[in-house]
Amino acid sequence: MARYTGAVCRLCRREGQKLYLKGERCYTDKCSVGRRTYAPGQHGQGRKKVSEYGLQLRAKQATRRYYGILESQFRHYYELAEKREGKTGEQLLSIIETRLDNVIYRLGFASSRPEARQLVVHNHFSVNGKKVNIPSYLVKPGDIITINEKSRSSEKFKSILESNASRPAPKWLEVNRETLTGKIVALPAREDIDLAVEETLIVELYSK
Ligand code: SF4
Repeated sequence: MARYTGAVCRLCRREGQKLYLKGERCYTDKCSVGRRTYAPGQHGQGRKKVSEYGLQLRAKQATRRYYGILESQFRHYYELAEKREGKTGEQLLSIIETRLDNVIYRLGFASSRPEARQLVVHNHFSVNGKKVNIPSYLVKPGDIITINEKSRSSEKFKSILESNASRPAPKWLEVNRETLTGKIVALPAREDIDLAVEETLIVELYSK
């Protein structure tokens, strides 16, 4: 399946919440979610009643789009979550949060997840001293992430770091803006994840 290349703000309007796909713009009043509170398209303002299946599907799609994950990979994370102890929905979100592209965004080393994904693919980061260019790489507690030496002085990174300096990292991550490193302190718990979906709906969808 191809990756979505259309207007990303439509995705947020479809899910009725900010998915933070456009970097700085998402934090300004230019964001479309606040300005147009209905779904995009011809029937966007007409859709009212949503079935149980519709709710489950929206929860899954919102999560997938928030993290920029394809269906097959999302299903794979669900299968991993099922094997873990604890609530499957919470485990699912915890696993996805530890993707390297998400962690780069959370640390403030990128302005959005799509940008983080691109920076990872272009070899700008190392995990525990080894270059990693796989956005779906799953980090674990104790891992140290660094911006590679050559990338640190680039104008692009200087501007990214400056514009994200005031965005705090979640408590399961530790960021050092002097050394440009990040540490995974713990696995993220549900309360550490600011995604407004009911993950139990995703479990219900996949359990059918
Ligand atoms: Fe567009 Fe970002 Fe607002 Fe989503 S959160 S509608 S991507 S500006």
